[in-house]
Amino acid sequence: MSYQVIARKWRPKTFEDVVGQDHVVKTMRNAIEQNRLAQAYLLCGPRGTGKTTLARIFAKALNCEKGPTIHPCCECNNCKEIDAGNSMDVVEIDGASNNKVEDVHQKILETINFAPISGKFKIYYIDEVHMLTNQAFNALLKTIEEPPAHARFIFATTEADKVIGTIVSRCQRFDLRRIAIPEISGQLRKISDAEGITIDDDAIFALARGADGGMRDAESALDQIISYTGSNITEQDVLGVFGLVSREAIEGIAEAVLTSDIPRIINLIATLDGSGKDLRRLTAELIAHFRNILIYIQMGGYDPSLNLTDAQIETLKKQAALTNTAAVLSVTENLIELDGKLRLSLSPRILLETALIRSAKSASVVDLEKILKKLTSLKLELGGGDAATTASPVRQSIASTTPPPAPAAATPIAPAPAAATPIAPAPATPKPQAPATLSYSAPAAAPQRNDFYQQQRPIIEEQPKQEKSQLDDLESDIALRKRVEKNPLVQEVLSKFGGAIRGVKK
Ligand SMILES: [Zn+2]
Repeated sequence: MSYQVIARKWRPKTFEDVVGQDHVVKTMRNAIEQNRLAQAYLLCGPRGTGKTTLARIFAKALNCEKGPTIHPCCECNNCKEIDAGNSMDVVEIDGASNNKVEDVHQKILETINFAPISGKFKIYYIDEVHMLTNQAFNALLKTIEEPPAHARFIFATTEADKVIGTIVSRCQRFDLRRIAIPEISGQLRKISDAEGITIDDDAIFALARGADGGMRDAESALDQIISYTGSNITEQDVLGVFGLVSREAIEGIAEAVLTSDIPRIINLIATLDGSGKDLRRLTAELIAHFRNILIYIQMGGYDPSLNLTDAQIETLKKQAALTNTAAVLSVTENLIELDGKLRLSLSPRILLETALIRSAKSASVVDLEKILKKLTSLKLELGGGDAATTASPVRQSIASTTPPPAPAAATPIAPAPAAATPIAPAPATPKPQAPATLSYSAPAAAPQRNDFYQQQRPIIEEQPKQEKSQLDDLESDIALRKRVEKNPLVQEVLSKFGGAIRGVKK
């Protein structure tokens, strides 16, 4: 038998085989079981997510000699012909190359009234239906609305927005989703085992990552890598062939951000950029990694739904211990913002470096709320006063290092009893009610500048204004952090805190 590519050989043949589109499969099966078939279906979804596959399974379910059934036999002539794409009753039309009104007349309107030849239904499957011209769409409208009893339509598109509303409203619409990495990995593992291919978990994971939610892309990539390396595949082979960044490099960057190791960040990015890696893809993978850390922290441990390998879980555990929710959220927000900007930027490397350094800085900013809490509990252990009063010195001390609050906020409610106190002592800035409301949001102009940014400034000033303001924000962050760190009380707490409590108590 001649060689068949993996994507074709492993194309799902029954509803049970379809991976990652349970919501569509369930509705289709119910429609068949309950005999509630719509006259037209519209399948929307990115490439390689199973549109043609589902259309063929649906056609088999209707036209199988034992059908209509949700378990087409895949053995009878009708099933075999549909699988091979040459059934006379299932007309597959490529909308991109048959988009004119004449094509619609010739391929659909002139044949639709003839009864099916060997099956019960005549099924028209139009792929990339959004490519049809308006005239072609309009020629179809009436027929879609009231087709002959034996006719059914299935449309597929990668761009649902471009299908005109009058067609969409006559169809039952299914949105196929990108297939998740664990589901793709599972399928690749199944195929490799069955084909006698030795491939490690990291290599499978890299293939699944690179496929961007498309099963066909993943399977084609597996084919390609088998042709390239033979039947023994490692992660390095996959990364080399597809220009992907290794899992270790991603984890390395994440660790450098969480530990504020800026030289390491710059070195890693330089290496990856120098070897021609796709920095946009890297950003997307970093976002996914930080999201995993976030989930790990929030769930208080590894959540099986993340579906990671043992080595990945070990890293996740280590990195989660280095950080906290607020820091990871801030890093993730920076990266998501960066992802949007990278699309338009001509200098992705500078943007990526800026965002990662910014993230590293924000990840290491002292958590003031934590210090306040600890300080409060320390005072309580020493037996001094209630929480509110103990917190106040810190609040005042830190307040003195932050710019004065907006003047408009001056005691709007409950004015001081003016008559009772003739010479009121300095009205004093209104004291914030909650000790936990300190924010880093409004520092004054930054007097000092980080050296690295001094060097980068001339380059960055050529960037669009948005990037420049990002830089200004960063400088403010750095300045604020320096001021907070210089605060003697904060310094004292940071240096002495852990041992001091135990010492005092004993
Ligand atoms: Zn059959």
